[in-house]
Order: sequence, then C-alpha cells, then structure tokens
Amino acid sequence: MPNEMPLRKIIHVDMDAFYASVEELDNPDLKGKPLAVGGSEKRGVVSAANYEARKFGVRSAMSGFQAKKNCPHLTFVKPRFERYKEISKHIRAIFFEYTDLVEPLSLDEAYLDVTVNKKGNPSATMLATEIRQRILEKTGLNASAGISINKFIAKVASDINKPNGQKTVNPEEVIPFLENLDIRKFYGVGKVTAEKMYKLGIFTGKDLKEKSIEFLADNFGKSGPYYYHVVRGIHNSEVKPHRIPKSVGAERTFNENLSSEVFMLERLEHIAQELERRLTKSKVAGKTITLKIKYSDFTLNTRSKTMPYFIADKDLILETAKDLLYQEELQNSVRLLGISLSNLNTEDKKAKKTDDKSILVQLKFDF
Ligand SMILES: [Mg+2]
Repeated sequence: MPNEMPLRKIIHVDMDAFYASVEELDNPDLKGKPLAVGGSEKRGVVSAANYEARKFGVRSAMSGFQAKKNCPHLTFVKPRFERYKEISKHIRAIFFEYTDLVEPLSLDEAYLDVTVNKKGNPSATMLATEIRQRILEKTGLNASAGISINKFIAKVASDINKPNGQKTVNPEEVIPFLENLDIRKFYGVGKVTAEKMYKLGIFTGKDLKEKSIEFLADNFGKSGPYYYHVVRGIHNSEVKPHRIPKSVGAERTFNENLSSEVFMLERLEHIAQELERRLTKSKVAGKTITLKIKYSDFTLNTRSKTMPYFIADKDLILETAKDLLYQEELQNSVRLLGISLSNLNTEDKKAKKTDDKSILVQLKFDF
C-alpha cells in the first residue's frame, strides 16, 4: 500500500445514464429504444444518452445533428431539470443516512467518505451495495459505485462495472490496479492529453510511473505533479461537502475592442455555445443569466435576469443575453463579454454540518 496516505474509505456513486433513465422511468414507452435528452436534430447538444443510443455512438456533448446522423431512429426528449433535481434530492438524502461527508459532483454523482459512518459498518463495499439498493428502491433507478482509498481511484472504479455494478479496489490492489490502467481511464486525462501521452510513449499507468515528476511537469504543466502522484495511489483531496460551484460561465476578451453590436452578437453566440458545453459537461442548469460587459476603459457592467425555470440550452441563454445587451446603453467600445449562469440546480440552500461525533477509533481496514 502506498505510504504518505491517510487511510480512508471512499465511495463514488454515479447514476447510470441519469437524465435518460429518468425519462424512461416516467415514460416506459421510451424503454429499450435509443434515447437522447437535450438538443434536437437541428440545434443544441445531447445532454445525456441511454445505453441503447450509446451503442450507435451517441454521446453527451455531441451535437443533436451528429447524434441523429449516427442513429437515425434516435428519439429526442427535452430535459426536465426540475424533475432531475427532485430525484437527486432523494438520492442525496440516502447518502446522508450513511455519512455527512458527501461531495456532490453533479446531480447524479457524489463522493462519500465512509471511513467513519453512521451505520458503524466497516465494509465500504457492503455499504456501497446497500446504498445502490436503497437508491433503486426509492427511485427505481440504477447506480454504479467505485470503492477505494481515495477519490481518484473510487471515481475511476465506478466506471468499470457500469451499468448497475460496482468495483472495489482494495488497498493492496491499488498499485497493480493503477499500473494496469489504460491512460484514457485516468480521471483528468481527456482526449487531447491522451494523444499527447501516446506520443510520449505513455499508454498505461505503468508507463506513466516511469516518468519523472520534472518530465511530467514540463509536458503537462500543473497537471504533471497530479499525474505523478495519482498513479502512485496518492491523492489526498478530502471529500468536501460544499464543493459545488455557485455559477458556471464563459467569457471572451477580444483582440480588438468591439463597437458594433452586430459583432458583439456574433461573439455572444460563441460564448453561449461554450457555456452550453460547460453546462452539459458538468450536468447543471441554472435560473439566473448574467451578462458581463467590460469596456475598453476597464469599467465593468453586469446585468442579470432570473427565469422561472432551469435552463441549460444555448438558444435560450443567447436570447436572454441578447435582451440584456440591448438593455445596456453602450458607453464605450467593448473589450470583454461574458455570460454566466447561477442559481444552479445543484445548489442546496441548507448548509450541511460535518459530523463531529467521529470518535477516534482503531479502524479495521476492511473494504
Ligand atoms: Mg452518471
């Protein structure tokens, strides 16, 4: 077992194809057919796809147009964020029956630190099975889980036996597990980074481990030391109960200041597109849209509008941002435009307090 590592038991719970599964649950006619939640054929992006659709290469963050091309008989449904949020609340309530150390990553994903837990059960594996069973009973939906000594490995592990499965990486299995892991499976390694790693001869955790921390820092900047440590089973990031961001935004600073509204609208469209991509990636929606304008003299103006429902759709965001732009008397040429969305559907207004009862006990490290 790697040293320099506090002994912890972390579960990463991840709902299977969450939005799509909720739609199937509420409309059984959709079951067994390829289904995409989000953008239609003409515009927008796919927020989620069920497993049937994934067989045809439909993926989240893909344009609706591309999705329909990959799978001509694909059904599109509009996202219903209020409904997802409602179910997410039930799921979170279950998590809190086990521990107060719950860190939601999105509506359908969370880390749980069960090192000390409310059930007094030393086996994180058994707890994960129980939690998934409770979620199924309460919501009718399947979840998968990864169980290990830190967040990084738990997150990677939850994908391995998906859907409706779980995977435990015991302390003594950590090193071989990471060494054999395909580099694309490392959390934090996207497509671009994977390509770069291939060029450097890094295909598995074992290859990664052979590189020095200096080499990795030279090639991957700040992420270099992160890769260096996680592949050694070192990831000390704690499960933080309040990690959910308050807003998601995108902005652009222009090479040349803009004075024509036509150009501004064009830029706004790109910004809205980027914002939609980020919202899809983090699986959130929000009610309040804020337009940020920075003038060439560096004065800053913001304007907001709050919608009666959650949105995450580029077109709606853009429409609103345009309205906000028209309301603004432009005082000068513009050097930066930004749009952000707050009042997110991931926010929980009640602050959850960390359980102080965690008595120092000699932990038996059963997984
Ligand atoms: Mg999920």
